[in-house]
Parts: sequence; C-alpha cells; structure tokens
Amino acid sequence: MSADTSALPFVAPVDKDSLRRKYAEERDKRLRPDGLDQYVRLTGRFAHFAEDPHQPVVEREPVTDHVTFAFIGGGFAGLTAGARLKEAGIDDIRIIDKAGDFGGAWYWNRYPGVMCDTASLIYMPLLEETGYVPTEKYAHGPEILEHCRRIGRHYSLYEKALFHTGVTELVWDEDAARWIISTDRGDRFTAQFAGMGIGPLNVPKLPGIPGMDEFAGHSFHSSRWDYAYTGGDPAGAPMEKLRDKKVAIIGTGATSLQCVPALARDAQELYVIQRTPTAVDVRGNGPIDPEWHRSIATPGWQKRWLANFTLNWEGFTGQPPAGVEVEDLVQDGWTELGRRMRANITAIPPEEFSVERMMAAVEEADIAKMEQIRGRVDDVVTDPETAAKLKPWYPQLCKRPGFHDEYLQAFNRHNTHLIDTDGKGVERLTERGVVAGGVEYEVDCVIYASGFEYATDYTQRAGFDVTGRDGVTLSKAWADGMRTLHGMHVHGLPNLFIVQLLQGAFLGSNVPHGFAESAQTIAAIVCHAVAEGARAVEVTDEAQTGWVEMLLRDGVPFGRPDCTPGYYNNEGQEIGLAERLNVGYPLGATAFFGMIDDWRTSGEFEGLAFR
Ligand code: NDP
Repeated sequence: MSADTSALPFVAPVDKDSLRRKYAEERDKRLRPDGLDQYVRLTGRFAHFAEDPHQPVVEREPVTDHVTFAFIGGGFAGLTAGARLKEAGIDDIRIIDKAGDFGGAWYWNRYPGVMCDTASLIYMPLLEETGYVPTEKYAHGPEILEHCRRIGRHYSLYEKALFHTGVTELVWDEDAARWIISTDRGDRFTAQFAGMGIGPLNVPKLPGIPGMDEFAGHSFHSSRWDYAYTGGDPAGAPMEKLRDKKVAIIGTGATSLQCVPALARDAQELYVIQRTPTAVDVRGNGPIDPEWHRSIATPGWQKRWLANFTLNWEGFTGQPPAGVEVEDLVQDGWTELGRRMRANITAIPPEEFSVERMMAAVEEADIAKMEQIRGRVDDVVTDPETAAKLKPWYPQLCKRPGFHDEYLQAFNRHNTHLIDTDGKGVERLTERGVVAGGVEYEVDCVIYASGFEYATDYTQRAGFDVTGRDGVTLSKAWADGMRTLHGMHVHGLPNLFIVQLLQGAFLGSNVPHGFAESAQTIAAIVCHAVAEGARAVEVTDEAQTGWVEMLLRDGVPFGRPDCTPGYYNNEGQEIGLAERLNVGYPLGATAFFGMIDDWRTSGEFEGLAFR
C-alpha cells in the first residue's frame, strides 16, 4: 500500500526553468509531421497480425431471429450492460464479438505478465453481484478473463452470444422500429434496442516502419501473443522455445512494461527498442486477504469504493474542493497521484487562489513525483548509461503513467539490452532484424508492443457504419467530431446506446466505473420505454446541440499540446474541432455520475423523446 501522503505539499528541489527546457527539447525531438499517420492498420498485407491465436473459429449456421437487445462488444461494457438488463427482466440479450469469448481487451491481451495496474477491487466489475473476491491487489490477466466468463455464466449471457462474429452493418428500420444487424458470418437478425461498446483501445496498430514485410523472422503484435512460437502461457509458464532465440520488442508503453520481465527471463537475448521512456512508478502488488475483504464487504461496498476512487483520483484536477476530507479506500498508484496533486492545490491559502497558482501547485507536485521516478531508475538500474536512457523527461500525465516492480530490474540482466533511439524510433526492418541508430540488430523475432488506435474515426475502429432514421449515418454525423448527449445518445439513431468514455466521465474515473454507470442508464431507459409502451427513444436535436455547445465552451482537452507526443495529445498535432469534442464533462467525473444518477432516477430522461 502507498503511504498516505495527502497532507504533504510536494516541493521539487530543482531548477524549474532548465527542467522545462529539457522537457521541451525532448518533446521537439519526437514531434513528427505525420502524427497519427505514422501508424498502419492490421489490414491488407498486415492482416495476418490481426488473426486470433487463442481460439479456432468454429463453423455455425447464420442467425436470423429477433432479440430485444443486441450489444456489440463482449468486454466490460457489454457484460455490465447485459447484466443490468438481465436484472431488469430483459431476457433475450445477444452480445456479439469478434473475439472467441467474452473479455474484450482481456480476451486479446494475453501477453506474458499481463495484469491490470488499477486495483482489482474497483477494476473488476460486478464483484459484489457474482460474489467473487480477487486474489491480488492488482489482478493478472487470466484472472480477469476468467471473471468475464464468470459474469457471462452468472447472467446467462452465453445463451444467445455470437463470438468470432464481426458486425458489418447496423440499419434502422423505422416502420418496424428495430435494428437490422448483419455480420461477417452471414447473420441477419433484428433487435429492438442496440448497444455498442467496442472499447477505447480495440484496434491494434503497427508502426509504419520501412521494410516491415522484408523481415524473414517471426513477428506478432503484443495483443495477439503467439505462444505456439514462444512456448509458455499467460499464467507465467516459461517460454522455453525462446531459450535459443534473439528477440526484439518495439515499444516501451504499459504493455511492454509488463511483458519485458518475462521476455528477459526466457529469451536468449532481448533488445528493448525504446523511442520514449515510460515513467515507471512502484506497483506494490500483494495477495488480498479474504478475511480482510469480508470485513470491508458490507452491502454496496463496490459502488462505494468506485465512488471513493473517482473522488481521490480526481484530486489531480483539484476536486473535491478544499476542506472536504476524503479517505482513500483504494490506495493505488492512481489515487496516490490524485492525492498528491490535491495536497498541493489545497495548500494554497484561499485568499491567494487563482488558476495560475493552481497550475503552479500542480506542476510542483508533478516535478517532485517525476524526480522521484527518475531517482528510482538510478536506484534500480546498475549501469548508469542505461539508467540515464530510461529516465522520462515529461510531466507524468503526458503519457499513461506506468507502475511495475520488475521492469527496470530486467535491464540488470546480461541478456537484456536497451536500444534507445533518442526519440527517433526504429529506422527500418531488414530481412535479418531491426535497424536503430544506424546499427542492425539481428533477431529471430520482432514483437510489436506498439499500442492501439485511439482518436481515429469511430466507425472505422468499429469496423462498420450505423444507418439510422432517414439515412443518417454515424460516420457522417461524427465526421467533424463526436456529437452526443452524455456521450451515449446520438440524434437520428433511435434505440441505440453508445458506451464509451468521451463526453461523459472520460478519464476522470476508472474506465469500468464509466461502463457500470452506462449499464445502469441503459437498463433504466429500456425499462422506461417498455413500461410506457414506447417503440423508440431518441435524443432530441436540441438536447444534443446543447450538450455539444456546453462541451465546446467549457471542456478541457485531456492531452496538453506542450506534452511529449502520444495518444493522449493526438501525437502532438494541432487540436481541431474533433479533438475539442474529445473531452469529458467539464465539472468532472464525480459531478457527471451525480448528474446522471439524478437524470436517470427522476424518470424524466430530459432530452430524450419516447414515441
Ligand atoms: P502504447 O501506445 O502506450 O505504447 C506504444 C509504444 O510503441 C510506445 O512506447 C511508442 O513510443 C512505441 N512506438 C511506436 N512507434 C514506434 C517506432 N516507430 N519505433 C519505436 N517505438 C515505437 O501501447 P501499449 O500497448 O503499451 O498501451 C496502450 C494502452 O493500453 C495503455 O496506455 C493503457 O491505457 C492500456 N494498458 C493498460 C494496462 C493496465 O495495466 N491497465 C496494461 C497495458 C496496457 P512513443 O512513446 O515514443 O510513442
């Protein structure tokens, strides 16, 4: 557990001007004119990268029936929506997923060491409902995947589910007031209501490195780990087939942090190719004592813990206001980050408070933390040259913060080589290996831990378009940026619920918390429609416009343009209208959840028209 440091203002004993210059220099090295276009999709000649290595596709007959609710996506969003709808008495629910089972991100990401660095008690949904107690403070991937299956079984969501099935089209039939859903398995069925929860990071991306298809060795993306090639398994069995192999891993983000220790343990030689170092803080995992868990698990505990996490994490925005004492139940790296920022903000005397003072307090806390993180690299990594290259030079929230207790240590092994490219990335691939900094590293295998599409076009990421009333398509409706009410309802697309983070709580909360709230909202609206005998429910143009205008006026884009490039800040490219709409509720996640709860329980559903 992290120590409670909430009372301490953090002061950084460094020359801030020179540090800011260093941050700017490092960012400038990494800015590229091609921004998001530097990446390539797993289609065409790279389509084999997207294939499912986990489960064979089983032939089945096409489906042509009708269900009350069809949900596209079998990850946390679909599972929680399905669960709440079942609880509300809607029995015929069909979840459709390209994967071979439930799990979403946890189905695909089975790389060695896969785990979640958010505390399992708030990350894993429906723990109270299923009676499951996670074994660790930070659960490993196989346990989370099994929990997804548990939810599927508990709520009988397997009965109508369609796996290894990609939706190709969603078309609204106004006369019948239902959706017609077509898939790549020849299905054509209807649903009165539909939901989409495709996940924020569902499409793997590859760096567009010259020569990628010249490489004669083996290669795969981290989210399609090829255990047939490496040996081992996601539970941590040694990858014995790598013992005589030289392996390069491209990327040093959250995924790489988790699989590098296992690769370092098992490969003959490991080359970790780094473009930008991640800030790696302490993780501090440990078992959950069931006895202790019983003591905290009074009815409603998970809802309280979720709310408490959000309140603490939002500390990075100065929430909750000064004077409001907040206990930190979860005590993970995220709440520590939030508490730290808040400690500095609340230390400002009220009479001196201004936005500038607040920003300075946040910067102070951030620098103190980043100094600590850089200091930790020196403490852990024995070779000073390697340590210097592993130090991150940017504010912590420029990139996704990392937490790991074995990643930095892996660089102390004689077989593990950090290939730092000083912000430039891999130059090219050859038949034999990887070229970086003018040096060719001959390898047997290249692993792309190069991440996932984030801010790209939503319907492209979904893999299909949605055609609603009067031919309105989702791709056109969002051509200039996302337009919704509450991030979920789109004018022209009746009876459709889009579950995603933007224009709602966004990153102000733990991602599954947003999904849990969305699930409640969907169930409440569907129940209301059924009770009222309404065939269709749709957001009014007026309500949607009002929400979008409010976001444009008051919303603050999450990624800062002065940050080192990454998916948080659109790779450092200019912020246009679409990016200005990629924001959360301006008053924060706690306020958003409170507002939505009132909106839902009032029974008015202001802004929606039932007909
Ligand atoms: P990321 O996008 O975070 O990282 C991709 C990596 O590839 C970066 O280090 C990037 O460098 C590097 N890269 C890209 N192009 C090149 C190139 N041409 N040459 C060299 N390196 C290159 O992807 P991840 O899969 O690591 O993580 C994605 C997200 O998934 C995380 O941000 C997180 O939200 C989630 N996740 C969560 C986990 C959890 O525990 N909850 C665990 C794992 C992932 P650069 O930084 O310079 O762009």
